[in-house]
Amino acid sequence: MLEAMLTPAQRALRDEVRDLVKWVPRQLILDMDDDRVRYPRGYVAEAARRRLLGLRFPTEYGGRGLGWVDEIVALEEVGVLGTSLACLYSLPSIVGEAIVRFGSPEQKARWLPAILSGRLTVAEALTEPRGGSDFFGTTTRARREGDVYVLDGQKRFVVGAEGADLFLVYARTDPEARPHEGLSAFIVERSEAGSELRVEHVYGLMGTRGGGTGRLTFRGARVPATNLIGPENGAAAVFYQMMIPERMTSAAGALGMARAALEIAARYADRRKAFGQRIRS
Ligand SMILES: Cc1cc2nc3c(=O)[nH]c(=O)nc-3n(C[C@H](O)[C@H](O)[C@H](O)COP(=O)(O)OP(=O)(O)OC[C@H]3O[C@@H](n4cnc5c(N)ncnc54)[C@H](O)[C@@H]3O)c2cc1C
Repeated sequence: MLEAMLTPAQRALRDEVRDLVKWVPRQLILDMDDDRVRYPRGYVAEAARRRLLGLRFPTEYGGRGLGWVDEIVALEEVGVLGTSLACLYSLPSIVGEAIVRFGSPEQKARWLPAILSGRLTVAEALTEPRGGSDFFGTTTRARREGDVYVLDGQKRFVVGAEGADLFLVYARTDPEARPHEGLSAFIVERSEAGSELRVEHVYGLMGTRGGGTGRLTFRGARVPATNLIGPENGAAAVFYQMMIPERMTSAAGALGMARAALEIAARYADRRKAFGQRIRS
């Protein structure tokens, strides 16, 4: 973002985030790209330790009560680190948005402080093997049985899945309803779902290795009914709200990545000589 557009507080925030970016070891990024590191939990913990996760959320939950623009300022800086680390930084903001807006007071108190302090790591599970654009065609099923929902189905391209403790999962609860009126949103805790939730590594991702991107398979995974976010069959509203930080953070991260690429190219053009002169002269 242009320097002139930033308030003094936003400049200070930007500098704080730049400091986090400088903290990230170069070797970590190389190891992630080589698939030697599957999920950089220490990086998420460090961002949490600096109180830089979920900046928009109320201070009572561990956020800073800041605005959307502030978060964009932060994300542009984190974007310099590449897609994987930018996505992992965004996830508490994305999953947290669903909890802040649609969660009950008990759900907020249970999960938000744990997420923002880095005690619990999160991921969002929307995309399925049949495709992602047709979100409302979701085929993962959730059937109510007493005080639990039983989940069956698959999700893929879930960033952070390998290290996540909690997943925001969308599943069909009413197959008879119109597509956008039959989905529900759940927080699935890995520890509660047990072996009925399998998380597999996704190999060969270009530019997004090391971010824990995984495939989830639910086979009769039992999720407490108290983990339903918003009303049953009410996931359309959760999805549309969650997609605001989802897309916003993707765009701001991409801006940071583009800036970093330009800076690297400009530095190289300063060094590189051709036809007897620097190519940037
Ligand atoms: C960096 C990154 C991070 C991601 N993180 C996550 C995550 O954390 N969790 C998660 O669940 N998912 C994640 N995704 C997956 C993402 O949500 C999907 O990639 C996206 O929804 C598109 O789905 P798809 O890849 O299956 O493409 P498709 O839906 O198969 O679409 C492929 C192309 O076909 C076009 N298309 C689709 N349908 C039609 C049609 N009917 N007519 C004409 N054209 C059509 C689309 O516009 C697109 O250009 C991530 C993706 C990326 C790139």
